Formats: sequence, C-alpha cells, structure tokens
Amino acid sequence: NHYLNAIEANKQLNVFLDVYADEALERAKMLQQKLDKGDKLGRLFGLVIGIKDVLVYKNHSVRAGSKILEGFESQFTATAVQRLLEEDAIIIGMQNCDEFAMGSTNENSAYGATLNAADHNKVPGGSSGASAVSVQAGLCMAALGTDTGGSVRQPAAFCGVVGLKPTYSRVSRNGLIAYASSFDCIGIFTNNIEDNALILSVIAGKDEFDSTVSSEEVPEYQKHLQPRENYKVAYIKETIENEGLQREIKEALMHKIDLLKRNGHQVEEVTLPHLEYLLPTYYILTTAEASANLSRFDGVRYGYRAPEAHNLESMYKLTRTQGFGEEVKRRIMLGTFVLSASYYDAYYTKAQKVRRIIRDETREVLNNYDFIILPTTPTTALPMNSQTENPAEMYLADVFTVQANVTGIPAISIPAGVDNENMPIGIQLMADVFKEDQLFAFADYLM
Ligand code: GLN
Repeated sequence: NHYLNAIEANKQLNVFLDVYADEALERAKMLQQKLDKGDKLGRLFGLVIGIKDVLVYKNHSVRAGSKILEGFESQFTATAVQRLLEEDAIIIGMQNCDEFAMGSTNENSAYGATLNAADHNKVPGGSSGASAVSVQAGLCMAALGTDTGGSVRQPAAFCGVVGLKPTYSRVSRNGLIAYASSFDCIGIFTNNIEDNALILSVIAGKDEFDSTVSSEEVPEYQKHLQPRENYKVAYIKETIENEGLQREIKEALMHKIDLLKRNGHQVEEVTLPHLEYLLPTYYILTTAEASANLSRFDGVRYGYRAPEAHNLESMYKLTRTQGFGEEVKRRIMLGTFVLSASYYDAYYTKAQKVRRIIRDETREVLNNYDFIILPTTPTTALPMNSQTENPAEMYLADVFTVQANVTGIPAISIPAGVDNENMPIGIQLMADVFKEDQLFAFADYLM
C-alpha cells in the first residue's frame, strides 16, 4: 500500500505504464500467510520491484515503449523476472522507457516522457529512465532495467541512484526484447550496493532458455562486500581530458581519486588511444543488430497491424511506418545501410575489428589494475527537449558508458554528490569480466 500510494501521488512523473495494484496486494497477502505459517521465505521476500517495459511477463502487456507492440500480451515470463518471483519479490508494475531501449532521455517513448524527480524540467536519462526514477522517487525498492550502451548507468547517474550493468552473459536474456543482442544486458537499480548485490545473486546464472548465458558460478555477492586494503585503480587520460566533461563531474572524480590515494591505494593514469573510435563502433554494430532484431515486427506476429493495409507488402510497410517512432526508424536505416552488400566490409566488418582491439586494450588495463574509475556521463541531467533536434549530439553523451558494452565487462554507477544546480552526479567503476563481487565491494567502499 505504501508503494501504491507513492505511485499514485507521483503520477505526473509518468514512471509506470502499468501498475499491478490488485495483483501486488494479493501477493503481499500470500507472503504474509507464508510468514505466519513459518514457511521458508525467499531471498527477496517482500521486495517491491518494478520492471522495464522490455521484459516480458506472462499475461501482462509489454510494449518496449513502442506503438508497434500496443495490445500485445506476453505468453511467457523472462527468466530474470521469473527468478524474482521465485524468491518472493513483488512485481509492482511495468516501467516506461525509450522505444526499444534506443535513447538517452526517455523522450523516445511512444507513451510520453518521464520526468526526473530531482527537477521536473530535466530528463531522467534513458533508456531505462523511468526505472531509475522509480527508485529515486521511492515508488519501489528496486527496478530491473537493461543496458546496451549505458541505459542503466546513465539514468542512475542522472537520478542519483546505484545502477549496475553486469558482465555480458551473466544474466539470461530470455524474455528480454532484443535491441542489440551482443550488447544487451539486464541491469539493476537500487538505493545501495547491498540490495543490488543481492538481486544480482538471484537473477544471474545458467539458464536453459539462453545458450549464451555463462555457467560461471554465481556467488552470494552481498556477502562479499568487505573492501581490500590496497587496490590498484586506473583512470583514463582520454576521459579526464574530454572537452565536454562538466567541471563539477570532473571535480567529483578527482575527489574520489584523491580519497583513494590518501587511503593508501594506488591510482594511476592510463591511456587508451582507440577510445575515440568507441562511439562509431558502438553505433555501427548496435544499429546493425537492431535492424535484424526489429525485422520481426511486421504486423503479422505481434501487436499493431495497420488497419488500411490491402495486401501483404502494404501491411509490412504501413505497419512499420505507423508503428515505429523516428529514432527506431533512423537506426533501422543506419543498420540496414552498414549491413548492405557494398558497405558491409567498410563499416560492419571494420567495426567488429575495432571492437576486438578496444576489448583487448581494455582487458589489458584490467590485467594490471583491479578497476577503472571514470565519470558515468559528461554532464548531469539535461533539460527536456534539448536533444530531440540533434540525435548525433545525443549519441555523444554515451561516450563513457559504451566501453563496458563494447567490451562485455561489468560496470556500476554510484551517486557522487550534486552539481551547483543540485542535479545528481554519477561516478562509474569498471572491472574485468565476472568480477562483480569485487566491483560491489569497491563501490560500497567508495559510496
Ligand atoms: N543511449 C544508448 C543508445 O541509445 C544506450 C541504449 C541502451 O543502453 N539501451 O543506444
């Protein structure tokens, strides 16, 4: 009831596309009975959690923030969501997001923008912006989002909460509506590290429905939060020197670095010369994958179908023309272009090679250091409507987050104060693959 009231009182933020009020109360009652009877309680007993509108949940609507999925109901439940339920969590509702998780502001949703609770004239970030706001505004205790190029960490930074992108393949993607399959990760929003670690322990690990998921053992992350006494940490020259980096964010980062040094940790500057190719690599590969993934939305199998279609061809055309928004169309066009016969080698193959180089360089640094510390975003949350005119500018804002997705490593954004307009600042930590246990401990130490 507490969370349902909070959701009702904050309706103007436009966080939830569906609220499962009756169902959640029903479940709460069932859990109460379990408690009364002395039954064994799940690890997430009573945790009230929201999910991003790209995770399928049986017999519930899912739209991926798109008109093209209007009216569609899921026939099964995503593995990550199923695991929350099995551990006695309460799913409170489905949360707004940028259409097909494409965007950095939540303004690309066909269901209206979500507002940042710290300042209603600012964006919450994206694409999982509403999930970040749900935790920021106390509408639930935690939320599941997805992070393909920063969509958990960037909104976490903009809203002053914790946001984790795990190692690629750590969490099953079964039941996650695909954007770019070799980048997509389910991530977690919470107020603190311990909750985040606990939830990852529940949702991570092998799954017979996703053959790409890792069978690497899943530790009880929340039990490994003791920090070490001497960490070796790197910061990247190219990120510190980034011209677009807001002064207060740079100061917050330098402050953390000083703090680490004063406490006896070793912090050093490294250089990653290929970093300037990160964004083009990311946007070539993700649009290519998106153009393939989104070809299934053709009016035949899912959701919306253009009513005035008169034959198969016109049904495809009209359905996709009317169902997809501007940004999604732009990316399908870009992806189709880079995969076309005459440009495939020049763009797609080249980008794959650069991806490997950046991955090798990044992992080399993580061979020599425990963590990389960097800003999550170049600026704090921007005003509404400031980027809609210029998509390329919006792409540039992903400069610090896409590295973890291009390379597959885990990364977390933690709150690190506010700027002089009182907007939250996020600092990001990255570790080598499957080192979430150490990442959590270090993040907890720095918070
Ligand atoms: N802003 C990035 C993009 O638009 C991130 C998206 C994501 O992580 N889902 O592609």
